[in-house]
Amino acid sequence: MSASAKKIYRPETRLVQAGTLRSPFGETSEALYLTQGYVYDNAAQAEARFKGEDPGYQYSRFANPTVDMFERRMAAFEGAEAARATATGMAAVTLALVGQVKAGDHVVASKAMFGSCRYIVEDYLPRFGVTSTLVDGCNLDAWREAVRPNTKTFFLESPTNPALEVIDIAEVARIAHAAGATLVVDNVFATPLFQSPLALGADCVVYSATKHIDGQGRCLGGIVLASRKFIMDHVHVLLRQTGPSMSPFNAWVLLKGLETLAVRVRRQADNAAALAVAIAEHPKISRLIYPGRPDHPQAAVARKQMRGGSTLLAFEIKGGKPAAFRFQDALKLIRISNNLGDAKSLITHPATTTHQRLTPAQRAELGISDGLVRVSAGLEHPDDIVEDVLAALEAA
Ligand SMILES: *Cc1c(COP(=O)(O)O)cnc(C)c1O
Repeated sequence: MSASAKKIYRPETRLVQAGTLRSPFGETSEALYLTQGYVYDNAAQAEARFKGEDPGYQYSRFANPTVDMFERRMAAFEGAEAARATATGMAAVTLALVGQVKAGDHVVASKAMFGSCRYIVEDYLPRFGVTSTLVDGCNLDAWREAVRPNTKTFFLESPTNPALEVIDIAEVARIAHAAGATLVVDNVFATPLFQSPLALGADCVVYSATKHIDGQGRCLGGIVLASRKFIMDHVHVLLRQTGPSMSPFNAWVLLKGLETLAVRVRRQADNAAALAVAIAEHPKISRLIYPGRPDHPQAAVARKQMRGGSTLLAFEIKGGKPAAFRFQDALKLIRISNNLGDAKSLITHPATTTHQRLTPAQRAELGISDGLVRVSAGLEHPDDIVEDVLAALEAA
């Protein structure tokens, strides 16, 4: 090893330290550069910046030191060459997909998706002549059969929202690459701590930083991570010219969120697993879905590609919508909200909220019954979460 070889720190260490750009003041905590633009020493420097011959900043729509620190820390954690932060998770998904296609192209995606992602693939892209096929993501033959000569990219999330199916990322990446297409993975539910899609063969990974990365309910944000070539070919120019950029303030909050991500996500996953154990045999529950358990339908795939369970679990209450509503209303600690990954435990009823736009048949296909609820475990004491759920089940 040469004296200049840099030590590669472990993931938890990178979450706290990587990407810090310390100013001459030597601040401990990352500085918040709340500035729109930058001044130049002289006219020649301005010219050089615009020519790309001088590496400094020009304008915060596409580059800002605080946003840069967030991108560098995320890239170091994820093992990606490059990253671009965005205003929201949906901006990240939209850039990663729209940036790759033009009229006449085709996209294949798993049909179990966050509602707005499904809108992009199913309704928005076709308006511009980009067709799409939605498949059952767990059925590898369905991905193979959906490929057309003009297929440009595959898109999936795993575990899926809200039924927590686990899709084999390495196998889907193989099918995509054999077809000359790329694979984009929405890794929000798994978190970067528990799953590394790029290492499994994906070409691009996207996050809603609104979820576990903030983890305390404050800011919206998103990020696209990929090879330098993917970012420069598909993402950078579109972000720079259309402007769905992350604000420096949000980048600063999210950087501080990253420092505690590993501790929070492990504790939240432990709480979700404890709740799963406590209610698994409950007579009022007809189905329990938790990716860390041996009774999960894709338990083997989860073991192969994930390093932890999930901070979320889903379960079906007997008695359909009326029982699910009575149950939610009887909870005292866990609050009703469509958000997830928060320090506070949250519950949602997908059939009447996040997935109400779908037809009953489409919901049935995705395993979203009228009795299904999804719990995002927070950082409270696990016994308080379990006691709240057990008491509310009695009331339901
Ligand atoms: C929340 C979420 C998004 C969208 O992120 P926003 O920050 O709300 O725009 C995309 N995908 C998944 C899986 C999500 O949970």
